[in-house]
Amino acid sequence: MQSASDLNLSEYDILPKDSKDAGYGDNYHPDFSNPEGDMILASKDCRVMFRTHSFILKTTSGFFRSMFSLPKSPPRKAEEVIYLNDDEKVLEYLLRMVSGMPFPPLDSLDMAEQLLHAAEGYEMPGPLHIIRLSITSPPLSEKDPFRMYAICSRYGWEEEGKVYTMRTLAYNIHEGEHRRSLERLSTSALLKLMAVHRTRRETLRQRLDDPPFVSGKPAVCVQCTGLIEYHTWRELKYKIILEMDNRPLGDTIYQGLLEWPEAKACWRASCPTPGCQRLLYDKPETLRVIRECIDNLSLTI
Ligand SMILES: [Zn+2]
Repeated sequence: MQSASDLNLSEYDILPKDSKDAGYGDNYHPDFSNPEGDMILASKDCRVMFRTHSFILKTTSGFFRSMFSLPKSPPRKAEEVIYLNDDEKVLEYLLRMVSGMPFPPLDSLDMAEQLLHAAEGYEMPGPLHIIRLSITSPPLSEKDPFRMYAICSRYGWEEEGKVYTMRTLAYNIHEGEHRRSLERLSTSALLKLMAVHRTRRETLRQRLDDPPFVSGKPAVCVQCTGLIEYHTWRELKYKIILEMDNRPLGDTIYQGLLEWPEAKACWRASCPTPGCQRLLYDKPETLRVIRECIDNLSLTI
């Protein structure tokens, strides 16, 4: 579907009813068959006909407004058929939306995308707005967040895009299963999303090298002045960063710090000097500060 500005409207099929639909029978959609309607829209291959009012089309669609403003030669009859290339489901949704009629729940992302594409082509701001509202509530909001982010980015819906950016953080962006959704993104939208994922991991990595965390280099025990090694912390840090790659949200790290072998090794590490055996890490405080660091990471850009 092209927008009206791109389209040579004179090539569009607008024909008096009698001249073309004789062979199609009366396959009107039951909710769009009122004989008072002065305009008939035919879906792709004329599978379903929709009788509606030119006034509704003119006032809700820039495309039809342009089409109806074209000079008519010969003068139009009272009733005309416009042959469109859209599937009947798409036309039904759009016509219901612009006519203020109830419509079935939008539960398919494929359908939502087809509708957006058609509404954009027909320059129908109403349906675009309705679909925008629908994508942030179930069932659409529960669909693949990468695909939802792609839709928001395509239509410039910033606030909704932030919601889905956050939801992508529960996934590893480098996993092959997300490739198709990521391919739909513009380069700038893709770079933006990748930056959010990477920045969370890198910020946490840097934060875990700063005080109060130990540096990881050999040090001296504050209790016995014997030499101590912090290799258990280095290994735990590595594990935390790997987990951030897999799930940049970081929420699984809290449980990991209680269960991972690398974490358990840290919590039982002690000074090797006989008779000292001071525990090297303060577990409750370390858990608290790591959680604080993760909670402070930015969820969007
Ligand atoms: Zn010691």
